[in-house]
Amino acid sequence: MLTKAPKGTMDILPENSYKWQYIEEEIRKICREFGVSEVRTPVFEHTELFQRGVGDTTDVVEKEMYTFNDKGDRSITLRPEGTAGAVRSFIEHGMFNNPQPTKLYYQISCYRYEKPQAGRYREFHQFGVEYFGTQSPSADAEMISLPWTLYKRLGLKKLTVNINSIGCPKCRKEYNEKLKAYLKPQYDQLCDTCKNRYERNPMRILDCKSSICKDIVKNAPLLIDSICQECSDHFEEVKKYLTVMDIPFQIDPYIVRGLDYYTKTVFEIVAQNENSNGTICGGGRYDGLVEELGGGSVPACGFALGMERLLLTMEEQGIEIPDSHKLDIYVGHIGENNSMFAQKLVADLRECGICAERDHLGRSVKAQMKYANKLGVKYSVILGDDEVASGKARLKNMYEGVETEIELSAQAIAGHIN
Ligand code: ATP
Ligand code: MG
Repeated sequence: MLTKAPKGTMDILPENSYKWQYIEEEIRKICREFGVSEVRTPVFEHTELFQRGVGDTTDVVEKEMYTFNDKGDRSITLRPEGTAGAVRSFIEHGMFNNPQPTKLYYQISCYRYEKPQAGRYREFHQFGVEYFGTQSPSADAEMISLPWTLYKRLGLKKLTVNINSIGCPKCRKEYNEKLKAYLKPQYDQLCDTCKNRYERNPMRILDCKSSICKDIVKNAPLLIDSICQECSDHFEEVKKYLTVMDIPFQIDPYIVRGLDYYTKTVFEIVAQNENSNGTICGGGRYDGLVEELGGGSVPACGFALGMERLLLTMEEQGIEIPDSHKLDIYVGHIGENNSMFAQKLVADLRECGICAERDHLGRSVKAQMKYANKLGVKYSVILGDDEVASGKARLKNMYEGVETEIELSAQAIAGHIN
């Protein structure tokens, strides 16, 4: 037990962490390009924030939260997602007083008590973006273009962007009645979760994964067919903006968010892999959320993507991630008396921005070189008494097997390597 990580969690080991760093760096870069700044919020928040912000009819809040009372008897929850914390922070720090829009991103760990399986963990990681303070359909489209551009840059193929409009609370009210009337004769066949949703939040039945419910809703009236003029105009504009950015999309009338504060655009990006068909990104507009959480009436939209599923998809698609963590040079030494010199040289090399390693285990020269090979370093140099005395050594290019005589200084070696 002591030496086993809790179920549904995992360590990200050195042989994988460089992949995470690579993607995280691409994320930081793209966010700079889009003018989006990072916000870092706590791992835990008051439970009520998620009940209201995620919605207490959602699976996340109903079944999946890590909730506990702290020693001061406050109900605390480990964040199951990032939007609620970002909105809370936006309100708490009066960011609505800044020139708008406020564009925020986060790269965070999230916690959900789910049954662990491939691509589904209890601790997982999300990258998400939120735009506050703009109603413009250009913002919705830009929001979709950001993860799309990221995926393209990472080399992902076979992606589909699915979009839908779920209207506003006004158009939904009427629709919910239509939907309930349609479902009524088949109510008894709905799964237990959907029976519960029937009164509280009927739209979510469209999103149910059980095959019986899926069958039942096949011929249900669609919200997209009954949205109001304003919502419909907005949707048309979003489509135009996507088209102008060359982002291919499909309309999927079954994408719902099903909570009152979600409005208008919703979208998913799906990867069609050989072995799995996975939603790797989801988001939409939520013009009512800031107000729901106690802020003013501030329109907003956002998305979140799961890092683990992104990595799995990249792996399935055979995308190689460059390992930029290989060392440049191994500085070997012969005999204990040259160890100090080796240490001074690696220290000077590192000051020159060269990634350098030496022996810390008193290995023989042969064993040091074997180790250097294992590390995959491109260059090596061996310091014996002669080299240290003469200030000259042979720099070996390990990939090509070529040796060059060089002056034994960090600057000279750095000049040669760069
Ligand atoms: P699913 O339908 O697969 O349960 P979801 O609707 O719960 O997904 P969101 O709440 O929209 O997912 O979260 C956004 C993204 O976070 C998902 O697209 C997915 O990539 C990732 N994600 C969600 N739950 C998990 C989990 N338990 N483990 C790993 N990644 C997850
Ligand atoms: Mg889920």
